[in-house]
Amino acid sequence: MTHRNDSFSALGPVHGPRLSGLMHAVGLDVSYHRALGDELYYHDARGAETAVLDLVGGYGSLVLGHHHPELVEAVTDFLAAGRPVQAQGSLRPITEAFASALDQRAGGGHCVVLANTGAEAIEAAMKHAMLATAGRTFVALEGAFHGKTLSALRLAGHASHREPFETDGSGEPNVHRVRLNDITHLEQAFREVRNPAGFIFEPIHGEGGVRLMDRAFARRAAELCRERGIPMIADECQTGMGRTGRFLGSEHLGVQPDYIVLSKALGGGLAKIAALLVRREQYRSAFDLMHTSTFAGDELSSAVGLKAIALTDEALLNQIQQRGTCLLEALQAVAREYPDIVAEVRGRGLMLAIELRPLHRSNSFTLRTLTATDDLALLAAAYLLREHHVRVAPTLSAPNTLRIQPSAFISDSHIDQAIRGFTALCACLRRGDGPGLTAHLTNQPAEAEPPRSLREGFKVCSYRPGTFAAAGPSPARRVAWLCHMIDDADLVSLEPAYIEHTRDRRNRLLDRLAPLANPVVMSEVDVRSARGDVVRLYPILLPVTSAWMKRCIDADDTGAAEALVGKGVDIARHLGCSLAALGQYTSIVTRGGRRLPVSNIGLATGNTYSLSLAIEAIEQAEAKQGIDPSAAVCAVVGAAGNIGQTAARLLSQRYRRTLLLGSTRSNARARLHRLERALQRVQVIEDPALLRSADVILAATNAVHQSIGPEHLASGAIVCDLSVPAAVGEELRISRPDLTLIRGGIVRLPYEEDLDIVGFPLSTGRTYGCMGEALLLGFEGIADRSYTGLVRPEGVSRLAGLAQRHGFALDQHKDHCVLGTQNREVAHVPTFA
Ligand code: PMP
Repeated sequence: MTHRNDSFSALGPVHGPRLSGLMHAVGLDVSYHRALGDELYYHDARGAETAVLDLVGGYGSLVLGHHHPELVEAVTDFLAAGRPVQAQGSLRPITEAFASALDQRAGGGHCVVLANTGAEAIEAAMKHAMLATAGRTFVALEGAFHGKTLSALRLAGHASHREPFETDGSGEPNVHRVRLNDITHLEQAFREVRNPAGFIFEPIHGEGGVRLMDRAFARRAAELCRERGIPMIADECQTGMGRTGRFLGSEHLGVQPDYIVLSKALGGGLAKIAALLVRREQYRSAFDLMHTSTFAGDELSSAVGLKAIALTDEALLNQIQQRGTCLLEALQAVAREYPDIVAEVRGRGLMLAIELRPLHRSNSFTLRTLTATDDLALLAAAYLLREHHVRVAPTLSAPNTLRIQPSAFISDSHIDQAIRGFTALCACLRRGDGPGLTAHLTNQPAEAEPPRSLREGFKVCSYRPGTFAAAGPSPARRVAWLCHMIDDADLVSLEPAYIEHTRDRRNRLLDRLAPLANPVVMSEVDVRSARGDVVRLYPILLPVTSAWMKRCIDADDTGAAEALVGKGVDIARHLGCSLAALGQYTSIVTRGGRRLPVSNIGLATGNTYSLSLAIEAIEQAEAKQGIDPSAAVCAVVGAAGNIGQTAARLLSQRYRRTLLLGSTRSNARARLHRLERALQRVQVIEDPALLRSADVILAATNAVHQSIGPEHLASGAIVCDLSVPAAVGEELRISRPDLTLIRGGIVRLPYEEDLDIVGFPLSTGRTYGCMGEALLLGFEGIADRSYTGLVRPEGVSRLAGLAQRHGFALDQHKDHCVLGTQNREVAHVPTFA
């Protein structure tokens, strides 16, 4: 699946590790070994060469396709002749011929400044404008893209290079932004800007989502520039060199810019070259030495550029128009067939785009969450690549828009292939077919991946279609409960169609997408206390499994898990919660919440109320079996831990004798012996076989491996297991029916609200201890961190008191484990109209 080769080290890629992680997560991790025309080729998992139709087109640099034979010839001839590539500071006839051809092709009358990349040529344009006008503010457009450099010149020691461009204040030239095609806004900007240096625009916003500029807007901008005596600067990096069916994109707008910036296709897809053209009468000759670069103007790139310009003749422009119209019409037909999926198809020439609609109301959980996290078009691109061998990419700042930029030579059969792919994609999205869109991620065996997190920040994402809609006015207090998937069965609960996948495939899908995981708000429920207080509860699901969490712990690498829990807490805060309780593994991986950065929200592990409930559940079981604690033996397993120490303190008061078993690490052992000294009728044991003398066992370990087997348990014992992961295996329910196995307590809410958390085996009106803790603290307005870290005995009694006051009652023993030790049936299958 991953077509990597030996040049990638075991630690992962060195170049762009995050980006390659992202490509791997969604299935765009392909390594191409050959390119020609509109096709790229890779070897599939069986080693067969596979052709891919390339509609990304080198981010617009492949108007002439990959390896155009005449361009390749220009390079080979140049090298065969032994011409110098690096002869800076000399006369370079090929460079001069190239600049002159470019000037002619752009209408004549320009001076040309050469550069290496689009961004650098944009900087040159800005510098020249600042020099020529002494202005320091650029009028630019909202949604524009002009490159990603950051002012190397500021670091220059040489004053004459730096000073002509110095700005006061922030150090950067100012930018005044105008809405595209809003003439009133444009006029207002020209009135307001005091020291304008220039107006800069793309004839079609490329990275901003392929948005066309109106002629009227462009003409008004040209007038305003003339009136203010500032240059109109056309960034034609993407629109130039024939891309739109004319040599320059601005020709469609009926304007003649003062400066023109070209790059991308200027190098014919083989050379990295960019140019700034400035009208001769406006050109400052001092600029010749003010903007130079080691590689700019080399003759090899110039030779390629010269040939690319020659190839971009009228016939080619006509061809681009004709191919563009064909492709646009075919795409428009898809849009007409799928108006619910395609928001718009737009563009000019061969600079086209298809914008997908957000699928917030899809039946598919996968499609809804991909929409919420702005990943839908990215997965769509991976689907098209893997299932239809069509390569597209979302634009940089319009994540729902897929760019389509083939070469002038795209064939009819390629257009058919593209349309088949887009049609299948639309059908898949219309069906709400999450498994179909993601099938390519799991149809090959998986490689073991280290747990990692690639998503920056968080997106507020609701499980329910649409936005949050709790009935009634919003209560003052809000709390959150963080949880994660128990196992792959949750995926089926969330999206029933995954029932068709094997468990293995479901797990692989969840693991594959884990680096992109974003918490999902499962429901929004107002819970009322017996005293009439109301708290709004937000259960927040981290879409990773217990097994994934456990792998992080086993590998002693909890960074990704902590980051994910941190995002959950951020979402809770964003929703106005005063406190978040940490369910399942979320508490363990953050060391009882202590690893989470302190921010404006209270935290609780949920362990305090869980322990209180567990003790109540044990008492109930004892009463049922007629066990008298003062004559019985109790054992606490994990007695040196966060919960265990307090459990030992509380339980030792009730039993004839209490045995403490804990980790053999030296500090844990020291803690156990301190407890032994401080408490009465307590004995530290080291041999688990001694557990057989206990009538009641409370286990609260974080040991990764199950520690209690049937051989350790007396006949008829009461075993309450709060361990994460479970210390007592589920199979004991069958093999040892004599035991009472309790996983903790389930709480009955006073008004029995349905918490509606898909995937969790909770009946209506019931909740877990950790969630109950969030509610109780919420009712009381407690929003600090006093219930994180070590569970305190006074906390346990306090929460028992709060539970009573607010009408929370132990309903039953929890007889299931929310950590995935059993084969679960799918709990609940939702449908959305
Ligand atoms: N301007 C425009 C309009 C562009 O599309 C781009 C690249 N996408 C640039 C400038 C920057 O070019 P480069 O990536 O070569 O720096």
